[in-house]
Amino acid sequence: MNRSCKTYRLSIIVRFWIRSRIIGSVLFLSVVIFPPPSLVVAKDIRESGTQLVLLGTGTPNPDPDRSGPATAVVVNGSAYLVDFGPGVVRRASAACRDKGIAALDPGNIKVVFVTHLHSDHTAGYPDLVLTPWVMGRRVPLEVYGPKGIKSMTKHILAAYQEDISIRTLGMENIPPDSLKVNAHEINTGVIYKDANVTVTAFPTRHGDWKETYGYRFDTADRSIVISGDTVPLQSTIDACRGCDILVHEAQTMKYLASPRRPSLQGTDFRAYAEKYHTTTLQLAELAKKAKPGLLILYHNPISLQPKRKLFASTPEDLMNEIRTGGYSGKVVVGRDLDVY
Ligand SMILES: [Zn+2]
Ligand SMILES: [Zn+2]
Repeated sequence: MNRSCKTYRLSIIVRFWIRSRIIGSVLFLSVVIFPPPSLVVAKDIRESGTQLVLLGTGTPNPDPDRSGPATAVVVNGSAYLVDFGPGVVRRASAACRDKGIAALDPGNIKVVFVTHLHSDHTAGYPDLVLTPWVMGRRVPLEVYGPKGIKSMTKHILAAYQEDISIRTLGMENIPPDSLKVNAHEINTGVIYKDANVTVTAFPTRHGDWKETYGYRFDTADRSIVISGDTVPLQSTIDACRGCDILVHEAQTMKYLASPRRPSLQGTDFRAYAEKYHTTTLQLAELAKKAKPGLLILYHNPISLQPKRKLFASTPEDLMNEIRTGGYSGKVVVGRDLDVY
């Protein structure tokens, strides 16, 4: 059973108290009242094994119930993030506080991957770069993604230069040069490997984007494939091939059939979806061939409160359409902060 972040912090404080007896109670009290960042950032709460944590299952629609796309693979207490849609840092913090996954304390996130550079998948990037740094992260953030991620990183750091100057040169006194982001522009194949995980990037196709990726994670106990945004592809089937979990986007037929959509004025959304996305029926076909142990549906146009949102599909619509498509394997509708 994982210890919660709160429990972990408590245990750190207790241990610190014992040590502090040696160096004096005055120092102890000052540290409890003003804990330094190293005590605030929890780490490693899980002995072993792999967890998949859905941090954001939403779309560009700013639905308060569904944060922007972000998925975490947590292995042996280390987190690996795929995409950083809006809300990612708050959701990671919630996974830490409410689910006891200390690896997702934002200060513990150090390795991240991005499927493509659409804003709904990257609007949380400045937050991910800056907030954990402000709160105490002093190691570089390693970011892997398609061409353009280096330029995006450079421009985000430039955009926040005034903030960075004030925090390093002003009273906060954050060490200069402590904010580092190493952006890696990748190709397909194995792009990352450490003691916990091997990450393989495979090509996806997402409309006019020149370069988009899905990712496969192989750990000691699990294989997980995350599609990102894509039309249905053989490369996704090949990447999965009986994988334990396939996390895949899906557009509902009901949504595509709706004659009135409030956004994308003037856009033929059906034509757009055909070039950029996967329908439920197409995903059912794909999953029959990919044969995942569990199919998780994310990044889809559903509402968890459909009565409050006209024209929205429901989770039941989504599930029914997948079944109508003839897929009989294990499938769930992903929700923010679900852990598998
Ligand atoms: Zn996209
Ligand atoms: Zn998207």
